[in-house]
Amino acid sequence: MSERLRVDVTIVGGGIAGCAAAVALRKAGLTVVLLEKNLCGAGASGVNFGGVRQQGRHLAELPLARRARPLWDELDERLGEDVEFQATGHLKLARSDADMAQLERYAQDAAEHGLRLKLLGASTLRSEHPWLGPDVVGASLCAEDGQANPRLVGPAFARLARRLGTDVREHAAAISASRSGDGFETRTDRLEVQSRFLVNCAGVAAGRIAAGFGEEVPLRPLVPNMLVTEPLPFFINRSIGVCGGGVYLRQIARGNAILGGGDGWGDTECNRSRPMTGTSLDAMTSALALVPALAGSLVIRTWAGIDGEMPDSIPVIGFSATTPNLVHAFGFSGHGFQLGPIVGEIIAELLTQGRSASPLAPFAIERFAGATQTLPSTAGVGQ
Ligand SMILES: Cc1cc2nc3c(=O)[nH]c(=O)nc-3n(C[C@H](O)[C@H](O)[C@H](O)COP(=O)(O)OP(=O)(O)OC[C@H]3O[C@@H](n4cnc5c(N)ncnc54)[C@H](O)[C@@H]3O)c2cc1C
Repeated sequence: MSERLRVDVTIVGGGIAGCAAAVALRKAGLTVVLLEKNLCGAGASGVNFGGVRQQGRHLAELPLARRARPLWDELDERLGEDVEFQATGHLKLARSDADMAQLERYAQDAAEHGLRLKLLGASTLRSEHPWLGPDVVGASLCAEDGQANPRLVGPAFARLARRLGTDVREHAAAISASRSGDGFETRTDRLEVQSRFLVNCAGVAAGRIAAGFGEEVPLRPLVPNMLVTEPLPFFINRSIGVCGGGVYLRQIARGNAILGGGDGWGDTECNRSRPMTGTSLDAMTSALALVPALAGSLVIRTWAGIDGEMPDSIPVIGFSATTPNLVHAFGFSGHGFQLGPIVGEIIAELLTQGRSASPLAPFAIERFAGATQTLPSTAGVGQ
C-alpha cells in the first residue's frame, strides 16, 4: 500500500535547480514534495567544475546570469553553510588575434546587459598573471565571476529546503507522472503524490518527463571530463577558460588544481559516467601550454558527470506548452550551476505569479515543437 500525499507542488529532481526551487516555493508559502531518485545534489550539480561564470554565456542567458550573480554573494548566509564561493574573477584567454577580436565583440555585446569585461593585452596580462604560458596573447577578465564547491551547494540547498518544511524524499524515483483532475499524480514505488503543480527538474532525464506530456525535446547527454591534481602551492588566482573552448581550470584554496576539457563516457540508462584516459591526457596537455608550472603535478583523480544538452546550448525554462501548471527547467547544457539559485526563484515566480521577472522567451519549450527526442525511451519517467 503506497503512502499518499497531497501538496501544492511536486518537484522531480533534487539537483541545484530542484532544491533551489523547493526553497523559493516554501518561502512563498506553498507546500512542496521533492522527489530525488538518488541523493540531492549528487547529479551534475555535485560533480561539476564549480565555475560561477557569466562571461562567455549565450546573450539570452545573461539576464538570468546577472540576476543569479548577487545571490552567490549571499549564499553562505542564506544557506547557513559555507559553500566556498569566491569571486576570483574569470579570465578568458586568447591564443590568436582572431580570438582577441572575438573577445572584443563579446565584451561589447555583454556591456549591453550590464556585464563589464576588461580586455587585457599581452603585456598587462603577463605582468598580472606571470604564470601564463607564451601561447597566450591576451584575455578578457570578468572580475566579478568566481567559483564555488559544487559538492557543497546542492546538499546545502536541500538541507535548507527541508528546514523550511519541504518534504524531501531521497532514493525516491518518480516512475510516473500524469494529469489527475485539474492537477497531477506522481508516483514512486511507495508514494503517490497529488499536486496542483508539477516541476520537472530531472536533469538529463527531464526529456522523458516532458515526452510523457506530449513534448518531445532533443535533449542529449553532455558528459564533461574532469581531473584534479594533488595540492600545489597556490598560484592560479583566477578561474580560467579559453576562447574556442578545449580546457578550463581553477585552483582551490587547498591547492588542488581542477581541470576540465573534452568528453567522458556516460550512459543515461544506468546513470553511470566515467572519464576517458585519452581525453584526460589531452586536457592536461592543453592545460600545460596555458600554465606551464602544472608540469610535474600529479593527477590524483579523474571523473565525469552527465548534464542535459539542448541543440542550441541554452536550457528549457518555463511553462509547458501542452499542460497547464507544469513547469520545466532542464537542459542547462553544461552551465547551469551558476544559474541554479535564480532558476529556483524563477520557478517560484512562475507558480505564484504566472510570470517571471526574467525574460524567458528564448527558453520556451515550444522552440522544439516537432523535434524528436533522441534519448532511448523506457516506460514511465525512467530510473
Ligand atoms: C562535469 C560537469 C562540469 C560542469 N561545470 C559547470 C560549471 O563549471 N559551471 C556551471 O555553471 N555549470 C557547470 N556544469 C553544468 C551544471 O552542473 C548543470 O547544468 C546543473 O548542475 C544542472 O542542475 P540540475 O538541477 O538541472 O540537474 P542535476 O544536478 O543533474 O539534477 C537532476 C536530478 O534529477 C534526479 N532525477 C532524474 N530523474 C529522476 C526521477 N525520475 N525521479 C526523481 N529524481 C530524478 C537526478 O538524480 C538528479 O539528482 C557542469 C556539468 C558537468 C556534468
